[in-house]
Amino acid sequence: MNDSTKIREIEICSGALYDVPNILNKVGINSKILIVCDKNTYKVAGLTLKNVLEDKKYDVQLCNLNRTGNLVPDEKAVGEVLIHLNDGIEAMIAVGAGTINDVVKFVSSKSKIPYGIVATAPSMDGYASSVSPLIVNGFKRTYDATYPIFIVGDTKILKDAPYDMITSGFGDIIGKFTSLADWYIGSLITGEDYSEEIANDVKKSLAECVNVSKSLKSKDESAIGKMMEALILSGISMLKFGNSRPASGAEHHLSHFIEMRELSNGEIRHSHGVKVGIMTKIAVKLYNTVFSFNKDDIIEMMKERKSESKEEFEFRISKNFGNLSSEVFKDIGYYYLDEDKRKMRQERILGNWDTMKKWVSENVPTVEYVDELLNDAGAPSDVAYLDLKYDELSDVLLNAKDVRKRYTILRLAEDINIDKIFDMAIKN
Ligand SMILES: [Zn+2]
Repeated sequence: MNDSTKIREIEICSGALYDVPNILNKVGINSKILIVCDKNTYKVAGLTLKNVLEDKKYDVQLCNLNRTGNLVPDEKAVGEVLIHLNDGIEAMIAVGAGTINDVVKFVSSKSKIPYGIVATAPSMDGYASSVSPLIVNGFKRTYDATYPIFIVGDTKILKDAPYDMITSGFGDIIGKFTSLADWYIGSLITGEDYSEEIANDVKKSLAECVNVSKSLKSKDESAIGKMMEALILSGISMLKFGNSRPASGAEHHLSHFIEMRELSNGEIRHSHGVKVGIMTKIAVKLYNTVFSFNKDDIIEMMKERKSESKEEFEFRISKNFGNLSSEVFKDIGYYYLDEDKRKMRQERILGNWDTMKKWVSENVPTVEYVDELLNDAGAPSDVAYLDLKYDELSDVLLNAKDVRKRYTILRLAEDINIDKIFDMAIKN
């Protein structure tokens, strides 16, 4: 795979685990390694990796983040890795998926000791990323971290990952249908940077995933390998752009909001990409609803639009986010748009309506198509899977848009006529 980032080696193939000494050699790591794993990843890859490295005379230390329940990327996990970071360790190897990587990449950025990844599941597109979502004080926040020096994905191991981790990776990529659309319309409405080249990379990773959707259930090694490559490519796109804009839009904001509700009830119940996949269907539904109209209809809808006063906005936020609101809005601040600024945005929407409508018709699929893809891959596709009832959806849509400042289909709906659009999208 060709990449322009500083990730120096990426190897996705059958038996890649046995090539780790060779890769370490190429990146100039020669003696002392810390392997970070948990009880599951130790069994599927950590122990073999330890043996393979020791055979090549590496001094291998082990940090096993053993838990009775689920491993969480929290203060305790970060502390445990730090405690194992003895003098002379040249590099860490994260053996695992999302959680272990998030912990190791954070420790790597603080300690300045590089790390590589031996992935055990194609579960999300964050392998190449340089940020780390951690749960600190019970609240999930994204911290600056660093990217890995190498990524290894042994398809023999990846194919045997728990199947919901495979569908999670699939859902995370399917979300690019709407993240790309949000990025494009955002660039027209708010004037933010947009890169055709990076968008094309993300489209490529989406196409690769769509191509293998029917072959995942049979755990076909080459299909799993293709999906892993797509996940890494998506991650690299974010690295190239400098933030997650190309690969994270309304479908992710909806997923974050639902995750916050899960977390406030004690635990994260569904994996990231599973939520993203289901929420992509909802975001696609909004796109299809909004862009079924012509400019004249939109002008009428804008006239009938009810505005939300600052007081009403603050009341809604504190009611829906409760004691999380100070954490949620610590970094981004409340994003309340006054009506003068709203008018300017509405003018831009009308001025760009036909361009956006054309782009959406060419790039955003139908809900039925997304449904079919999720079903082909054996991924959950119904909101009921997330313990969410359809009548709760408008509430989720309304509040999820405030999780980030980013312009998305949710904010476009808000600028046009949020009540009407959400109502139509949910009822249909
Ligand atoms: Zn994601």
